[in-house]
Amino acid sequence: DIAVHWFRTDLRLTDNAALAAAARCKAIVPLYIRETPAAGRAIGAAKQWWLHHSLTALDAELRRLGAPLILATGEPYLILSALARDSGATRLVGNRRYEPAAAAADEELADRLRADGLEVDFHAGFLLHEPTRLKSKSGKFYRVFTPFWRTLESELQVAPPAPAPGALKGVSGIASEALADWALLPQGPDWAGGLRQMWTPGEQGARDRLSAFLNGGIENYAEGRDVPSRENTSRLSPHLALGEISPAQILHALRQPSTRGSQEDRETLRKEIGWREFCWHLLVNEPFLPERNHDARFDDFPWHADDDAHAAWQRGRTGYPIVDAGMRQLWRHGYMHNRVRMIVASFLTKHLLSHWQIGERWFWDTLVDADPASNVANWQWVAGTGADAAPYFRIFNPILQGEKFDPDGAYVRHFVPEIAALPDRYIHKPWDAPEQTHETAGITLGVTYPKPLIEHRAARQRALAAYQQIKDAA
Ligand code: FAD
Repeated sequence: DIAVHWFRTDLRLTDNAALAAAARCKAIVPLYIRETPAAGRAIGAAKQWWLHHSLTALDAELRRLGAPLILATGEPYLILSALARDSGATRLVGNRRYEPAAAAADEELADRLRADGLEVDFHAGFLLHEPTRLKSKSGKFYRVFTPFWRTLESELQVAPPAPAPGALKGVSGIASEALADWALLPQGPDWAGGLRQMWTPGEQGARDRLSAFLNGGIENYAEGRDVPSRENTSRLSPHLALGEISPAQILHALRQPSTRGSQEDRETLRKEIGWREFCWHLLVNEPFLPERNHDARFDDFPWHADDDAHAAWQRGRTGYPIVDAGMRQLWRHGYMHNRVRMIVASFLTKHLLSHWQIGERWFWDTLVDADPASNVANWQWVAGTGADAAPYFRIFNPILQGEKFDPDGAYVRHFVPEIAALPDRYIHKPWDAPEQTHETAGITLGVTYPKPLIEHRAARQRALAAYQQIKDAA
């Protein structure tokens, strides 16, 4: 028999259960569909850049094995039906998607194709757990991370990852579209220079990143993961987002004796992978999360809509160095350190009182690791509207956060070079420095670097007052 393997968020050859099943057939058609309309949320610009390079890498690997990747645009049912007819395929395999709209579309598609006589199998591989199956003692889904993770961890069995197929037999005569025609790369100005410098999309890039991390970067991760100037986190998130590596592969590698780092470092990394699972657990069980607050009390929250403030935040011109450094890292590298994501998200939702969706959408378009579950769940978590969230009244002080996690200002100096000459004690509060210091450092506040958009204490009082309003109404 002949199988179509439909690649989606599983752009890898190893530890790919569906691909392994397809490889056992007489021949295989590896396929990627640019779905129109998109099933689920259409991916943003930064992730499109990544997808282009990831598909290029995947195609090269598949060609080496004997079956090039076929690209097609359109409605999956029509494409798959035609492809089955042209190739003689009798089976469709793929790995499960969990974004609610995509999962629903897959189910409906499978029914239609089965009715046409095709065998259809979707396997697991994107997550460690099936989000609808795991239930708390009360029979409902989990809303709190710790018991969720305790349960999941206790039943986790991570098998050694299945190797990539040794060789594949393709089907000749199947036409493919050209990737260049999909225009996934920047069409106007080339904003991807920083991305190219920073990342190597594709399975090999993911593997290299993982081994570099486990061979050194993981040392002191438990503490160092909060210091944005250090390369002390794995940076595997964009690889995970498109399935170039599976979470099971990471957990398996983590257990190998050659892995560096303390027991605590390794446990902390496992737990972070657990947070990814938890975010998906929340989204699958509350599919409305991208559009609505988990905590309905916030539905009447008096958010502000200030376009100028949003633009200043997006461009890294708020006048708070740690916030600006984060937003510029995001723009340049399509990535931001987790600690700083929390600081900039808190600043947007509390200091500027902007709706978390404004930030969530900006992240969605600019992050190479944009993930439908992690992005929404973390935004709601920081905003205080989410499950197991930080309480709204806990408002990050961007000055103290900067001083604590970037004490020597190395992160700020790197991304906000116009204030780099300030001494450490003023690097997170340039407005406090005497005029003489500004002169020596070549800074004119309000000209070469912005004055703070809003004064911290005033912003804090305003946010607390807004919060009191909805608490009183509840
Ligand atoms: P590491 O510290 O090396 O962690 C390893 C892996 O664990 C990560 O790759 C990621 O898969 C997972 N992980 C770590 N922290 C979290 C977390 N808080 N929530 C969920 N999974 C986590 N992560 C995304 O992958 N996509 C997003 O779109 C995204 N949006 C975010 C938005 C906000 C406002 C915040 C506060 C966090 C967001 N995160 C998102 C979570 C986190 O910031 C990133 O996963 C992390 O910074 C990725 O870097 P890393 O791979 O070096 O992390």
